[in-house]
Formats: sequence, C-alpha cells, structure tokens
Amino acid sequence: MNAIDLRSDTVTKPSKAMMEAMFSAEVGDDVFKEDPTIIELEKFSANLFGKEAALFCPSGTMTNQIAIKVHTQPGDELICDVNSHIYNYEGGGISFNSGVQAKLLPGNEGRLSPELIEPAINGDFDWLTRTSLVSLENTVNRAGGSYYTLDQIKPIHAFCQKHNLKLHLDGARIFNALAESNETPKQIGEYFDSISICMSKGLGAPIGSLLLGEKDFIRKARRIRKIFGGGMRQAGILAAAGLYALKNNVTRLKEDHARAKKLGDVLNKLGYVDSVLPVYTNIVIFHLKPEKITGDAFEKKLSENNIKISAFGKHTIRMVTHLDFDDTMLEKTIGVLKKIE
Ligand SMILES: *Cc1c(COP(=O)(O)O)cnc(C)c1O
Repeated sequence: MNAIDLRSDTVTKPSKAMMEAMFSAEVGDDVFKEDPTIIELEKFSANLFGKEAALFCPSGTMTNQIAIKVHTQPGDELICDVNSHIYNYEGGGISFNSGVQAKLLPGNEGRLSPELIEPAINGDFDWLTRTSLVSLENTVNRAGGSYYTLDQIKPIHAFCQKHNLKLHLDGARIFNALAESNETPKQIGEYFDSISICMSKGLGAPIGSLLLGEKDFIRKARRIRKIFGGGMRQAGILAAAGLYALKNNVTRLKEDHARAKKLGDVLNKLGYVDSVLPVYTNIVIFHLKPEKITGDAFEKKLSENNIKISAFGKHTIRMVTHLDFDDTMLEKTIGVLKKIE
C-alpha cells in the first residue's frame, strides 16, 4: 500500500485518465487568448455557476488576491472571518498586493451573517477606512470544513447590495459544500460578484484555480493576472486536467465526506482524544489530551505507521480525506488510531 497522506486534499496525484486528457490537449498561447482548452475550461466553469466569464489561474491564492485587487482601492477595508484563508494563509497578500486591511470577525464556525457584518461596516467619515468588500469562505478550512447553505448566503448578498459592498466567495472547496447542501453551482452563482474555485483540492488536479464573474470584472482581473505574473502560455495541458476534474471528480466527493465522518466517529471514542470538531465535509480537526499523548508524539506514532497528518496547533491535528484515500487506507488508519490507546 502507498503511504497514507491525510495532510491535505492537495496531495492527490493525477490519475492515468487525467494524464491522458492532459497529453492530448490542444494548446495555444493563452496570453493571446489562443489556447482552446483554457477557453473551453473557462466557458465550462462560468456556465456551471451561471457567470458570464472565467479566468484560469495557477492557484487559489492568485484568484483570491486578484479578486481583492479588482474590488478594492488602497486604503480600503475588507470584512472576513478570523479563520479565513485570505487572511491567514496568503502571505499578507491583502496588504501586500492591494494596500487593503482586513476587519476580522468571529464567525459561527467560520460563517458570517448580516448581524455580524453590520456593526463592522465603517461610517462615511474622512478618518475611517472605507469598507468595500466582504469575503466568505465555503467550506471553511480552519473551522473544520463547515459550510454555508443558500439560505445563509442569500441574506448576506441582500445585505451587501443594500450597503454597496462587493461579495467575494473563496470557494476552494465549494464542491464539498454543495455536495452536502444538495445545491447546485448555478443556485449560488448569482449571489456573488466573484467566485474562486480550486481544482487542485478535492477534485484531484495537479494545479489550477478559476476566478468567475461578469465580463467586465474578468476583463479587469485578466489585466491584474498579467501584472501578478500569472499570464500563462500553452497551459492548456493544465486546463485539460481541470476540465477532467470538473467533469469526473465532483460527484464522488460524498465518499470523502463519509470516510471523514467515520474517522471522526472513531476519534470521538478514543481516550486520548479530547474533542473532535463536528465533521461536515472532508476535514477532521481534533484536539488531543496532551497528558495522554502530545501532538508531536501522535504525529510520530502515525508516521511510524506510514500515515501523514498535519499539526494544526500544538495538540490539534487535522486530517483531510481525498480521492487518493480509499476504504483500505481508512481501515488501516482506524486500526492504527485504535492501537495507540
Ligand atoms: C487551498 C485554499 C486556497 C488556495 O490555495 P492555493 O494553494 O494557493 O491554491 C484558498 N482558500 C482556501 C480556503 C484553501 O483551502
């Protein structure tokens, strides 16, 4: 058996069928808008979410950062949850790239609401920072894969419209959210000014994210992508992997969620586990009882059994299920977890 890697859903390797799709992709210079496979992927994804246009980028960090840049002016403030990827894991890009500062809110398992956002909006005074953007993350990585439903998104959208705020979605794992809420991309698409989706997470592509929006927004985003150094040439070989992922690897995500739930159930019953965050999608975050086993010792024990996990704090562990983690690996992992007792 291969090593079991639960550190992230980014660790998947392209399947043979995906590699074949990449190998036979038609390509051209995409800075000249001449790569047919990229054009196809952009059209396909925009249609999927009912948006006018899309932009293929190397990473989700880039799609998020481009969206922030287009939606704001230097000196503005954006509103996001304290656990947001855009704030915690994008190298300070909000300030570095856009000269914008973040107002961080304590969401409900990472989720914002109009009630939380309202008092965070600055009034129109010369000395206050202009609030111009709200960013939601779905699913919320650091909050354990919790997700928004359409009923929670709609009032935030209406609220942002009323207050003249743009609304961005960091949808790196949006398909995991939709798999659980039983909603379609089209249903949520209309409620955001911009949407970032990743194909290199649970969908199993080696690279690639898309930024979706209306034509005018994407025209501006394309210019920023070039400035950020993300204008690619014959990248249709990469877009082919993305197309394959969107067409073949979405409906199976529920399997990952079922395996994550099973891991969560097992962990909940173990004496050395203090608590497990509710498992909503493919992310399992749990706290150890350090008097029984420390984070370092736990990581080492698993590593000796060829299982990789990621420390998410001193005695907090994250496991993420994905398409290269099957039932055999699940059983082995459960066996090892129980043996540590
Ligand atoms: C992974 C991730 C991103 C993008 O990360 P890249 O590694 O730059 O592709 C953005 N938001 C969230 C919530 C993520 O988990």
